[in-house]
Amino acid sequence: MPTVAIYPGSFDPITLGHIDVVKRASRMFDKIVIAVANNLSKQSLFDLAQRLELIRQSIGNLPNIIVESFEGLTVDFAKKHGATVIVRGLRAISDFEYEFQLSQMNKILYPQLETVFVMASLEYTFISSSVIREVARLGGDVSQLVPAPVLVALQTAFRPGRTL
Ligand code: ADP
Repeated sequence: MPTVAIYPGSFDPITLGHIDVVKRASRMFDKIVIAVANNLSKQSLFDLAQRLELIRQSIGNLPNIIVESFEGLTVDFAKKHGATVIVRGLRAISDFEYEFQLSQMNKILYPQLETVFVMASLEYTFISSSVIREVARLGGDVSQLVPAPVLVALQTAFRPGRTL
């Protein structure tokens, strides 16, 4: 039986840290579904369609990775795709507490689902979508930290004269 893993997140926007995690995970599992949360309670910079498109443009043609959106419980999305693994990235101790709670909760909701943590690579440990958004908003150079399509999208979003 092929092992399907989901990689859920907001991806607002996708960064080189996310891409590193998904590429490494794609070597461990037969299929990865990047699951983009349509979280209505969270104000995002990029809307759902833009976040999906930026991921698709950024990861290129990796044959065992697909990108989909979801609403509601991650475990329900996992069940729908026959996934037995949730992939999450861990950057620092500060990620640990929340990720630990989340994985315990998901275990209660769906015991067959295993959370697998991929440690951030050293060069991406400090990257988060929120820091990228903030630095780009203030006109800082994030070209080393995000894929090219995201860089263009950030420049468009924060072009002088646009109100955000
Ligand atoms: P969420 O809102 O669910 O935290 P994110 O898009 O911020 O969604 O992150 C999705 C997953 O990717 C999380 O597990 C997060 O810890 C991980 N992640 C984010 N940035 C990095 C990075 N630079 N290196 C490794 N993992 C990361």
